[in-house]
Amino acid sequence: MGSLMRFGAHVTTGGALATVPYRAAEIGAECVQIFVGNPRGWRFVPPSDQAIEGFRKGCAETGVEPFVHCMYLVNYGTADDALRDRSIAALAETMRVADELGVTGVVTHLGSHKGTGFASVLDRLCDGLSAGLAASRHTLLLPENSAGQGDTVGSIAELGAIVGRLDDERVGVCLDTAHLLAAGHEIRTRAGLDALAAEFDAAVGLSRLRVLHLNDSKTDLGSRVDRHQNIGDGCIGTAGFAEFVHHPAFAGLPGVLEVPGLAGKGPDAANLARLRELRRPDPA
Ligand SMILES: [Zn+2]
Repeated sequence: MGSLMRFGAHVTTGGALATVPYRAAEIGAECVQIFVGNPRGWRFVPPSDQAIEGFRKGCAETGVEPFVHCMYLVNYGTADDALRDRSIAALAETMRVADELGVTGVVTHLGSHKGTGFASVLDRLCDGLSAGLAASRHTLLLPENSAGQGDTVGSIAELGAIVGRLDDERVGVCLDTAHLLAAGHEIRTRAGLDALAAEFDAAVGLSRLRVLHLNDSKTDLGSRVDRHQNIGDGCIGTAGFAEFVHHPAFAGLPGVLEVPGLAGKGPDAANLARLRELRRPDPA
């Protein structure tokens, strides 16, 4: 019987980085995830020293564990050199700032191979991720699993190949529940979760799993469509989440909400309460 996961939320910075840890603590979050710039734009303005200091102080005072999510536009393996250069520069800058912010890790998506196949982009993708590691000294780099939409990179096997190739202790993995279901993993049953944990352990190594994204899914098992929903209101559902958050493979890990929120304003106290109310399922 491991300890339960630690639940948290993605929170908007709203240009006020120093208030993030307090706003996270106010809704009951034990961990927090932020973007350090516009997730859908390349222009990057690094936070001021004052904002960084305020953020660090807030995390220390509240005990909230911080994570950063890298911008969405990145594609480290693409044959488009201009896009690849921008992606690597964005990751390096994010990793550098993440060190200054004192965050545990930087979660990143991996982009698309655009039909050329994963093997054709693996070298370039890993070189790009290495450049991000080289720009930092402390923060973890956490590639995230994909929902399997289009030609996106991020299956369990692909994550394993990337982690193996990088061979760096600062490389971990982020798993997103909505992406897992959409990619065809039955995460709503103990048997399905046991199979996932075994597959992940063989391909990546369970000790590499450092953070989870806890999102219900508007789309069903194997849909390959990425649409997040509030906890309990989607295809994973309350019973499915109860199995997930109590599975021993995830004990003690931070789990971050990226849900629409009951009021449509992002992760909220209500979704955190729903996670904490999930009862441990009876053993079958
Ligand atoms: Zn993500």
